[in-house]
Amino acid sequence: MSNQLSGAPGNLSPIRIERAEKRDKSLLPWPPRPVYHSGGTDAPRRPAAGAVTWNITTACNYRCSYCTQQFLEDRKRLLKDATAFIAAFSRLPGRWEIKMSGGEPFTHPALCEIAEGLRRQNHLVSVVTNFSASRERLKAFLDASGSSLRVFSASFHAEYAGRNNQEFTAFVEKCRWMAGHLDAEASFNVTCVATRDNLAQLTDYAETFARAGVTFKVQPEKRDREVIEYTDEEQELLLSLGGHNMTGVIAPDFSGQPCWAGALYFTLDDRGHAWRCYPARRFRRQYLGNFLSPDFRLARGPTPCLYSYCNCTVPIERGMTPGTCAREMEHTSNWKRPARWGVTTK
Ligand code: SF4
Ligand code: SF4
Repeated sequence: MSNQLSGAPGNLSPIRIERAEKRDKSLLPWPPRPVYHSGGTDAPRRPAAGAVTWNITTACNYRCSYCTQQFLEDRKRLLKDATAFIAAFSRLPGRWEIKMSGGEPFTHPALCEIAEGLRRQNHLVSVVTNFSASRERLKAFLDASGSSLRVFSASFHAEYAGRNNQEFTAFVEKCRWMAGHLDAEASFNVTCVATRDNLAQLTDYAETFARAGVTFKVQPEKRDREVIEYTDEEQELLLSLGGHNMTGVIAPDFSGQPCWAGALYFTLDDRGHAWRCYPARRFRRQYLGNFLSPDFRLARGPTPCLYSYCNCTVPIERGMTPGTCAREMEHTSNWKRPARWGVTTK
């Protein structure tokens, strides 16, 4: 596929796009014109379904030392009008996977009602949780999501759920219980942030979860929103455990390459603000409008990535970014490139 449109900014580097954008605001209007080839790469095929990562609350019952949200001004916000959001989701074209996170989504009293509302609209439901909710509440969520549930992701936070063997054993047992209650179409996984305190235990954790039949994924720690500077040995360890969420890399850089985010993926907050992806939200660019209002606009196709670090594994795993990233971001690129370099998409 090589359908680059004449006049579209497909062959420009992100820096040149930025300069051009400053020079001529009309060059990158929102929604932008689709670009199917840029940065020497074709866009992947159009994914069958869209995906949203939705932070439904900033509230959380934990206070992890490495939490990327610890500097938010308000960590008690809950989305207020669930009905308005459900109505907005009904306006999305086709079937979408709505991945709810927070904060901690199970602190939201309307979580089950939201899941049920999305199911009734034939959307798919996924969730990321610290897994501290009671089994009764977890079961109520499973009942509300029904066969629409796709991914149940439990974050293992050793500072709260692994302070001793008893806590860790209880967490693993709860994982087994959850995996045993899922529909065949749904998947369950455990994620763990690779903090310096955790690094020595990661291999043991991975082996324990493997014995329990549970998929275990590591996530690089971020400080000031950038991946911390792991040593070469630490990077080798993370790669041996699959890289960030098993994408095969730690901090991929797709800049300049075409990505479907903005057209078939976006990130949404509890107030309705929608951005192309997390880096877009961070840099306050490529704003899609407020999801609840008529000014919300999806892009019409793939467009070049403008960011040098993609931490959005949802669009990566769903085949919305090119199959191979251009490179690892600068400060994770100093070690020997592994033979299986690249991001596997499915
Ligand atoms: S559980 Fe997640 S949201 Fe809550 S403090 Fe820990 S990292 Fe932050
Ligand atoms: S940062 Fe990732 S999700 Fe965002 S546009 Fe770039 S490749 Fe796509």
